[in-house]
Amino acid sequence: MSSQLLRRRALVALTAAATVAAGAVAVLAVASPAAAANCSAGYVALTYDDGPIAGNTTNLLNALTANGVRATFFNIGQKAQANPSLVQAQKNAGMWIGNHSWTHPHLTQLSTAQITSEISQTQQAIQQATGVAPKLFRPPYGETNATLKSIEAQFGLTEVLWSVDSQDWNGASTAQIVQAASTLQNGGVILMHDGYQTTVSAIPQIVANLNSRNLCAGMISTSTGRAVAPDGSTPPSASPSPGGGGGGCTATYRETQRWGDRFNGEVTVRAGSSAITSWTATVTVRAPQKVSAVWNGSPSWDSSGNVMTVKPSGNGNLPAGGSTTFGFTVMANGQWAAPTVSCRTP
Ligand SMILES: [Zn+2]
Repeated sequence: MSSQLLRRRALVALTAAATVAAGAVAVLAVASPAAAANCSAGYVALTYDDGPIAGNTTNLLNALTANGVRATFFNIGQKAQANPSLVQAQKNAGMWIGNHSWTHPHLTQLSTAQITSEISQTQQAIQQATGVAPKLFRPPYGETNATLKSIEAQFGLTEVLWSVDSQDWNGASTAQIVQAASTLQNGGVILMHDGYQTTVSAIPQIVANLNSRNLCAGMISTSTGRAVAPDGSTPPSASPSPGGGGGGCTATYRETQRWGDRFNGEVTVRAGSSAITSWTATVTVRAPQKVSAVWNGSPSWDSSGNVMTVKPSGNGNLPAGGSTTFGFTVMANGQWAAPTVSCRTP
């Protein structure tokens, strides 16, 4: 078992214990449970086409969830209609779902009416299963043209191709799939498929490789068709302290990891052009989110339970330009918006 998996299990146990112990707003100040995944090099998108498939989709979802990553599934419409519970399982596991046509034809060889039918029926089948119509479309075989693009636009769909082909459809071994994923760069998208054991088996090594390169699994932007952070944000945003200038501080938020029901966030507090002796950061989560654990900082809450004030857990000295971080876990309760953060001194 990887040390990462051990850490994740430890965190799950901590989170569960805190929830039981303290009810709605569970508070647990602990030492950092993990050097959480560092996404400083950016995000890539894992994609799985041609499902859902009874006997494989569940294994695929379990492997992704166990490794703490989310992926995008480009489903075939007629399979989605035949297996709506698997489409629901994809959604419930925190995955994103795209349209991959109704029958997987060579769309560029079909009439406008036929293409429209392929896309429309699939939108409907996925909407019936999940309540939401897809925003992303991947043409079978990556074959596209102006006619197809104009029809995609009528459905509000963003066309998504890929930057790396895993070749899993072509008999690639698990090692070869892992090797292909190791070439992913920030914003990149890897093509894989629902239906191969080799592909499922590659997931732990793919995730370990991405972590080693400070890359994280993200979602596909509907504006660019490229990978971005799971909450749709691109780079983390910084908020200047009131007053700014010397003696001030800034707080910067980024998401470091996500599971099916919760995510970890990290705030970097940085001193301005002068040294500071202490700081106070404010983290506001959006109801019904609840913070269930905090590390490397001392938290307190307002009466709503949505505004968390964090002070240094030790001394708060920071030299000019110096920084420190604290982390926390947020139970999403269906709300995945990123918290807003700010910092003030003292
Ligand atoms: Zn396909």
